[in-house]
Amino acid sequence: MSIPERLAANRYETDEEQSHIHVDQDLARSTGTGERIIAVCPAKVYAREADGTISVEYAACFECGACLAVAAPGALEWHYPRGGMGIQLREG
Ligand code: SF4
Repeated sequence: MSIPERLAANRYETDEEQSHIHVDQDLARSTGTGERIIAVCPAKVYAREADGTISVEYAACFECGACLAVAAPGALEWHYPRGGMGIQLREG
C-alpha cells in the first residue's frame, strides 16, 4: 500500500470553532520560523500569502510535532485539538 493510500485511511474530526495552531506573524518573519515551518510540515498546513503572512490550514494537521521542533520560541503556539477532534490514525 502506498503512503498516500495509507494516509487516505485516516479520519479527521475538524474543530470548526477553534484552531489548535497560531502563528505570531512578527516573530515568524523576524526569526525565519515561517520558512522553516512551511518547509518541514508534511501536511502542507502552512503557506506564504501574497502579503507575506503565514496562513494555517489547521484541519490538515497530522499532529506530528515537526513544526514545533523548528519554530523559534514564541513564534508558534501549538496544542492538541480539543478532545475527540483532530486526526484519527488508522495505520501505525
Ligand atoms: S504538527 Fe506536523 S502536520 Fe501539524 S502543522 Fe506541525 S508539522 Fe504540520
